[in-house]
Amino acid sequence: MGYQASSARYDTMKYNRCGKSGVKLPAISLGLWHNFGGVDNFENGRAMLRRAFDLGINHFDLANNYGPPAGSAEEMFGQMMAGDFASYRDELIISSKAGYYMWPGPYGEWGSKKYLVSSLDQSLKRMKLDYVDVFYSHRFDPETPLEETMGALDLLVRQGKALYAGISSYSPEQTAEAIRILKELGTPMLIHQPVYSLLNRWVEDGLTDVLDENGVGSIAFCPLAQGLLTNKYVTGIPSDSRAANTTSSSLNSKDVTPEKLEQIQQLNDIAKDRGQSLAQMSLAWVLRGGRITSALIGASRVSQIEENVAALNNLEFSTEELAKIDAALQ
Ligand code: NDP
Repeated sequence: MGYQASSARYDTMKYNRCGKSGVKLPAISLGLWHNFGGVDNFENGRAMLRRAFDLGINHFDLANNYGPPAGSAEEMFGQMMAGDFASYRDELIISSKAGYYMWPGPYGEWGSKKYLVSSLDQSLKRMKLDYVDVFYSHRFDPETPLEETMGALDLLVRQGKALYAGISSYSPEQTAEAIRILKELGTPMLIHQPVYSLLNRWVEDGLTDVLDENGVGSIAFCPLAQGLLTNKYVTGIPSDSRAANTTSSSLNSKDVTPEKLEQIQQLNDIAKDRGQSLAQMSLAWVLRGGRITSALIGASRVSQIEENVAALNNLEFSTEELAKIDAALQ
């Protein structure tokens, strides 16, 4: 039986306007960095995408290098698109990025026009798409003039290979400059994708101000600190977790320090008092006050997506709760 999306898919999800643009994004989006590679279980990935879309998550985030092996997440996604989502293409926001190492030689990473243009062509082929909705410069390149990197984004938008331009992990100063250049070129920046969670609050130090002042949206990656901000590690490192996976270098069991565990346990108690799981409170916290457009989660199973979307049932924080959270993180 082919996949038929739930007719209730837009009933409960919240959609937030992305800066001063025409686009709204789901408050919770799904990223395919982990668990969608060639080494992963295709059926599990497909079940997660289907359930996510049925719950109103209509934004899927990719990058050229997601896998492993690099590129395979886009290939897997391409198969799922063709099989399940082709008739829903106009309901989806699909993003990709280029910036990190993808192929050997001087044009296989960073921010040259040569790399960005070739990389998006490759991504479109892997995903079997005519265009992506958002294309990102994945990281700032200190050696390439920013005019060239932003010029490449502008070109790709004009060519119709991407509808909107974005940047990821640029500092507040680099972001302000990128916004200025893109504006001059006539392709306004849609969105910034920074890391942001209870355990990493760097965006509060200037970046969100720059985005607000310029009407640019934001999507926070690793809002659960790769799973640390869930009830998963409260009593140790379970074998079916990212931290226990030795082929994944992104979260190391050494990151789960006694001090961090102590903080996580305190946060877990605050979440319980709110009637939420720690994952749900962590997502609600990222979205608090409406400054972040979307929280970009990852998942290894369908049940995590369901639990995480239910965070939207309680997005409000009292002043006391926020103070307790700050105290737990001291
Ligand atoms: P999260 O912080 O949401 O971590 C996701 C992981 O946490 C899951 O894979 C799972 O790990 C665990 N988890 C999620 N929900 C639950 C739950 N309810 N209960 C228990 N465990 C849970 O995000 P990611 O680190 O996956 O990043 C999300 C996305 O952000 C990526 O897919 C990518 O699209 C984007 N990203 C962008 C970057 C950039 O440079 N622009 C860099 C990194 C990510 P487990 O395997 O342990 O179950």
